[in-house]
Parts: sequence; structure tokens; C-alpha cells
Amino acid sequence: MDYLDKLNPQQREAAVHKEGPLLILAGAGSGKTSTMTHRIAYLIREEGVAPYQILAVTFTNKAAREMRERVESLIGEGINMWILTFHSACLRILRKYGERLGYTKDFIVYDPTDQKVVIKNCIKEQNVDEKKYTPSYVLSIISDCKEKGVSPKKYAEINGMDFKNKIIYELYAAYEAVLKKNNAMDFDDLILRTVQLFEKDDEVLSYYQDKFRFIMVDEYQDTNFMQYRFVRLLADAHHNICVVGDDDQCIYQWRGADIKNILDFEKDFKNTKVIKLEQNYRSHGNILEAAHSVIEKNKGRKHKKLWTDKEKGEKLKYYRADNEKDEARYIAQEIDHIHTKDMRYSDFAILYRTNAQSRTFEEALSARELPYRVLGGTRYYDRKEIKDIMAYMRLVQNPADDLSLTRIINEPKRGIGEKTLEKLRTLASVRGESLFEALTDDETVDGLPAKGADSVREMISVLSSYSQEKDNLKVSDIYDGLLVKTGYIKSLEAQNTVEAEGRIENLLEFKSVIYDYEKDNPQLSLAEFMEKIALMAEIDNHDAGENAVVLMTMHSAKGLEFPVVFMPGMEDGLFPGWRAFDRPDGIEEERRLCYVGMTRAMQKLYLTSAEVRTLYGKTEYTKESQFLRELNKKLVEGDGIYEKKSAPSDYSGSGGNGGWSQGGGNDGYSNTNIFRPFEQLKYIKQAQTTPPPASKGSGGAGAIAQGDKVSHNKFGEGLVLSIEGSTITVAFDSVGVKKLARDLAPIKKI
Ligand code: ATP
Ligand code: MG
Repeated sequence: MDYLDKLNPQQREAAVHKEGPLLILAGAGSGKTSTMTHRIAYLIREEGVAPYQILAVTFTNKAAREMRERVESLIGEGINMWILTFHSACLRILRKYGERLGYTKDFIVYDPTDQKVVIKNCIKEQNVDEKKYTPSYVLSIISDCKEKGVSPKKYAEINGMDFKNKIIYELYAAYEAVLKKNNAMDFDDLILRTVQLFEKDDEVLSYYQDKFRFIMVDEYQDTNFMQYRFVRLLADAHHNICVVGDDDQCIYQWRGADIKNILDFEKDFKNTKVIKLEQNYRSHGNILEAAHSVIEKNKGRKHKKLWTDKEKGEKLKYYRADNEKDEARYIAQEIDHIHTKDMRYSDFAILYRTNAQSRTFEEALSARELPYRVLGGTRYYDRKEIKDIMAYMRLVQNPADDLSLTRIINEPKRGIGEKTLEKLRTLASVRGESLFEALTDDETVDGLPAKGADSVREMISVLSSYSQEKDNLKVSDIYDGLLVKTGYIKSLEAQNTVEAEGRIENLLEFKSVIYDYEKDNPQLSLAEFMEKIALMAEIDNHDAGENAVVLMTMHSAKGLEFPVVFMPGMEDGLFPGWRAFDRPDGIEEERRLCYVGMTRAMQKLYLTSAEVRTLYGKTEYTKESQFLRELNKKLVEGDGIYEKKSAPSDYSGSGGNGGWSQGGGNDGYSNTNIFRPFEQLKYIKQAQTTPPPASKGSGGAGAIAQGDKVSHNKFGEGLVLSIEGSTITVAFDSVGVKKLARDLAPIKKI
């Protein structure tokens, strides 16, 4: 049993615990996951438990894979054991017994895209207003219901049948009927149906209760109600259930995770043995102490404190960068400097709050030719919304680009399906035209499905006018115009989901890219810009590979560890994120996330912020994160503002904290400075939908007439020579005489 020698007495006690409920409640890096894997090995090697009698569930595929590898390193490879995510465990069960719920064995699983198609059809069939009841909105309610086990009927009972609830009820019921008819399940169904199967079919439940003599769940603090039911039902017969978790690391409440599941475990299972682990093996002393100084600000948490016999190690490093580029440059430079022969690039992780932040790091790392990979999120330029908007821009540049047109003709939805598109392609190729050309023909457009014709005509007209005017417009103006006038932003807004909000954020962030290039070259043309981006994406492609700096969100870093961790963007509004201020317990959940992030670090932890940040296309002075203010300052060395600027005047000081912020007190937090990306969006939309002065006739305050002096976004000041029809002719000081389209020209009378 020498493999157990490594464990400390508490870990060992947990590992050799054989029967009855066991709760391992402990802080980050205390060896919860390791203890669980050792327990699996112990049961198999010493207690004669067969591998197939064990069920171990985790949250992500990556975590499941890692746990399997750890177990295999203890007992040898090729074991037949269920170390799986909740979804895949349930899928296996349903493949075997799904027939008892009326599904056939080969039922299909609908992913979110499929779900959307289904609900859209339901919305259409029931003549519901899709703008009010967007597919994503309806699906989020359905998902919420399924997580809680609320059927359509029950939904109606609970919520009553007012106008809105009746519609939701009917859509939910119709959606369920379609899935059933198609012999399909969505992701939520996988868990819900398994639980229903267990509840209605004793035979199946007993089969699995007998089979899985030992059940283990990692990261139990993040289970939702249905996952809890699943575990509970399986464990009810024998109570051989071991859950491990940390209430301080519950970071998925916004997705229905219920911290009560772990806090109430002892009530649910009588005679639970509770083991607390207090030694942290992951992090140097200073890192641990610092993480603790943050998390202890949460009210109502169970008191627990970890210790370590590791050296204190270096202090945390804080760098207040001038701006986000300087921040990324600094991080890339540090990685370059610290990286040695015995360190791999994969020992470094940059953990950010939102995926939109990844872009500047990708650029800075590429500039130094450091390998990196973006985990969890898609690489910035590979993201769907970025590709879509780039396709629009490419079409403005080159309308003959059929590939781009194919990509966006139905993005946002314009009722153009595959069949229609195919017909169009044939038509265009017979006539020897591009798709775009074919669509400038009125007759062709009239022949499109009724719903599509108008919106396609509209899209082509927007693209044509920008295409004609592209040399007279700044790239950023073209960009804004496309976002708004193609209906792209509007359709995202209508979805009203966190995911769509993320996409909007990314699109606004893309404006920072354009600004950057325009700053260096005010006359930047669309063609030059497209070229730059294409090259950027090319460099990206070479950097795939294992030994690479890891970029991911703090959420997806749960359970992982890295020798060196960077946490950029320590600014109020970014982290804690602006959404946190609108939710009860929002800040506390963000603080737990901060704790998760910090405790990923083994040897070095860097925190950075930018004094000025351009994010979502807007440049702002930032305020350092309240988490920095909460951090025990003695554990940090800073070479940014931290030393240059003295403590704020309203600093009252306690326990060595303070000195971080340029305003705002220690405790009470005012959110007046929180930057909300969607305010920027409002501004863009306003600018794009108010007709510019030039398009109004003569008279009226903003009108422009012959002989007026005007100022143009791109060309500067000039004199209006003439206005004829839709064309306005201006003599500019900088570029001479230009003919501009009245309805697009970004000009003001001066
Ligand atoms: P988290 O809360 O982040 O999921 P955890 O509690 O699951 O953390 P582990 O990932 O299991 O912690 O362990 C953290 C690190 O400590 C790992 O590198 C592990 O190998 C090491 N470790 C755990 N127990 C011991 C021990 N008794 N002796 C030495 N190292 C240990
Ligand atoms: Mg763990």
C-alpha cells in the first residue's frame, strides 16, 4: 500500500474509508481530487471492489480524462470503469434502458443548434411573436424547467395561465412533442430522463444501485438540482457515496448550481463522515495567504483556512499597465524571461474573466513568437460572430466573394434555406454571375420565398452602398454601419441570452482592433485592414501544439493547476464583471471565482490591470478591482501605480490592506464607474440610425447646403460644392474633390 504513503493522515482516512457516506469538504489544492483517485485505487486493490462497481462523476471531459489517467497510474491501464461526466454517464444508461421511457435505442441527442431549429418551428407554427418570444429566451426557460424537473403541465400549474405563461406553456409542450416524435433528447433531457427512469422503474433503479456499489462526485458544490437527484437516487440503497467539494469554489450558480447541495449533504445522508483537509500542497505560502485574504471577505461562508509547509515563495506581482496592450506585452515578456530549459510553455496560464480579453494576449504572444493555445473558447478570429462580420466586410471589399455571401445570406435569418441557395447558385452559374450580382436583379429576388425577398433586397442594398462608398469611409464607420444595418446586432440582442451577450461583446471588442490600426494609419483602407487580419490569423495557425502557454477563462480552469498564473484585467466592471452588480450575491460569486483563479497558481502569481482599457470598442480609464483592494498588500510587490501613486485620501486602512484604488472606500462599493459594454452599443446604433445631416433637405438645423463648410470623419474639413440627388460633392483640404453618397457620408456642418 505504498501508494498511500504519500497521503497525509486525513487524506488517508478518507481514502481507506470503505462504506457509508463520506464528505470531503476542503479548500483549493488540498488534495480532494487526489484523495478521491486514491480511494478508487484502494477500493479496487485492497477491498476487492471490481472497477465496474464504481461510478465517478465529474463536470468536464477534461477533468474526467485526467482522473482516469491518475487512477490508471495507480492501478494499471485498461480498466473498465465509469469515470465520466454527468451527461455521458446518463447517456450510457439511457442507451441501455431508454426504451422503457418510449425512446428507441438509437435515439439522437440534439445539440443547442438543433434545439433552436425545433423551437423556431414551434414558434412559427403557433403564430407567436418571435421578437418577443425569441428562441433563446424560450429555450432558456425550458432548460430551467428541465433542470428542476418541471414538465409543461407543471409549469402551467405553478405559474398560472396568464397570456405570457400560456404561450410559454404551449411552446414548451410543442417542443417536447417534437423531440419525442423525432426520438430525440436535448442535453438537459439526458439527466432529467435518467432520473425519471429511476423514479418510475424500480427494476432499472435497483440494477444500477446494485451495480454501482460506490459512487463518487468531484466538485459537488457545482451540482444542480437534477444532478443531485441522480446521485441521490443511486446512493439511496447503500449510502456508499463520497462527494468532494469546496463551497468557496461554487462558481456556477448562474447556471443553476446549488451550493445547498454540499452544505446539506450531512442532512441528506445520516451518519456522514466528514473529513476536512487543511493542508494545501499546491501553492507557495504567499499565494495561499493572498487567496485567503480575498475569500474571507465573503459573508456567511464556513470558516476554514488552509496551511502549507511549502516555502512562502515570492510575493505576488502586480503590474498596473498603461493600457491593455502594455498589459499583454508585459505578460508575454515575463513568460519569455521566466521560461527556461526546465520549464515548459504549458507551465504558464493566462486566466481571464471573459473570452473577449484573449485577443490582445494572442497578439502579444504571437509578436514574441511564443506558442499558445486558447482552451475552452474559440480562438478570437475563429469565433462565429467575428467570421460573420468579416464575411460582410469582405463582401463590401469584393462583392464577388460567393463564399462570404453564402456564409451570411441567412445570418441573421432571412428565410433563405439550403434549397433556395442551391437554386440561386445554379442560376448565377448559368448566367456567369456571382451570387451577389444575381441578387441585384429584381426579378431574381422577387422569385425568392416571400419572407426572404425583402430582407435580401435590403441586405444587398446596404452592401452595395457601402461597397461604392468604401473609399470615402473609415473602416470603423463601415464596421458600425454593417453591424447595425444588416440587422446582425439586432438579431443577437433579440436572443437575450448570456451567450448572445458574449457575442455582442466580442463584436464590440473587434472595434478595438480596427481602432488600433486606424490609430497608426488614419487613412487605413478596407483592403489594407482585411489583409492585416488575414495575416494575423495565419500566424495563429502555426502555434497549435501541446507545449504552449494556456489561455482560458477562470471558469474553465476549475480543478487545474499551473506553476505560473497570470490574472489580467483586475478592474472593477471587468473583474468583478459588470453583470455581478445586477445580481444578488453577484459579487460574492465573483469573489469565489477570484479565489478559484488565484489558487490555480503553484509558484508564481501575477495580477495585472490596465490604467486605460479599450474593450468593446471603447476606451476608458479604469478603476482597480475591488479584489485588489481586499488583498493583503504585504504579500504583493508592484511595479506599477501601486508604488508610484500613494494611498487614496479616503483610505482608512485595516490589516495592511488598501492603497490600491484611486477612489472608493474599503468596504462599501459604489458602482458609478462601472463600464457597461451595451451603453457603447446604444451609441453606435444611434449614430447609425439617425440620418446624417446631409440626407435632410435644405432648411432645418442640421441641414447641409451648397457653400457650407463641413467636417468629414475620414477626410477632415472641406467645402460643399454641390448637392445633386443622392450625391454630395465636397472639396476637401486634404484629399481634394470627392463625390460622396448623401445617406452614408459621415459629415457635419461646421
Ligand atoms: P481543487 O480544489 O483546485 O480542485 P484539490 O483539492 O482537488 O484542488 P488536488 O488537485 O487533488 O487538489 O491536489 C493539488 C496538488 O497537491 C496536486 O498537485 C497533488 O498532486 C498535490 N497533493 C495532494 N495531496 C498531496 C500529498 N499528500 N502530498 C503531496 N502532494 C499532494
Ligand atoms: Mg480538484
